[in-house]
Amino acid sequence: MTHPIPASTAAKLPLMEAFYTIQGEGAFTGHAAYFIRLGGCDVGCVWCDVKESWDFDAHPYVAADAIADEAARHPARIAVITGGEPALHDLTELTAQLKARNFQVHIETSGSSPLHGHFDWITLSPKKFKFPIAEAYSAAHELKIIVFNKSDLKWAEQEATKVRPHCKLLLQPEWGKREQMMPLITQYVMANPQWHISLQVHKYLDIP
Ligand code: SF4
Repeated sequence: MTHPIPASTAAKLPLMEAFYTIQGEGAFTGHAAYFIRLGGCDVGCVWCDVKESWDFDAHPYVAADAIADEAARHPARIAVITGGEPALHDLTELTAQLKARNFQVHIETSGSSPLHGHFDWITLSPKKFKFPIAEAYSAAHELKIIVFNKSDLKWAEQEATKVRPHCKLLLQPEWGKREQMMPLITQYVMANPQWHISLQVHKYLDIP
């Protein structure tokens, strides 16, 4: 079942999992961070590696302050809100609770729904299965394109025309296609150095 939670219950969010690890993707690769994975997604990527996150109702609703308290038990002060599609939820309360505990708050979103909350770093990873809304492009600090086919490199350039000038541009192979796509991505980044490579380093390290 995929539906946004009512605003009146936004202080409680469907929590699929939360864990302390190393950010493996994007500009903050290598940084220790606390990940908060919320349930619910209406995007439906065929290659999604967290399909168990899609159903809102499969996950317990947890109070925002309890999520933040648990995050604060760890020493790093980067919190990454991910999903699922976390923008389906009103994150105002959760981000306020994290900020109150001195967290730098990051979010990883497809940009397909409006954001509600206060974010220090917005990773926009657009998906062809449900396109971002216009405001997602102007809010993004990094644009992360998942490369599943060679044609995704052309699509990446189209998407890059929509973000702000200083938005970081990242190409990341879809994990199951990495052996085919990495040679193409490597050549492409060498020829177009405004793009950087993002690897799912946590998967190479076999950590969450
Ligand atoms: Fe999976 Fe993310 Fe796509 Fe949703 S947006 S289907 S969680 S990869």
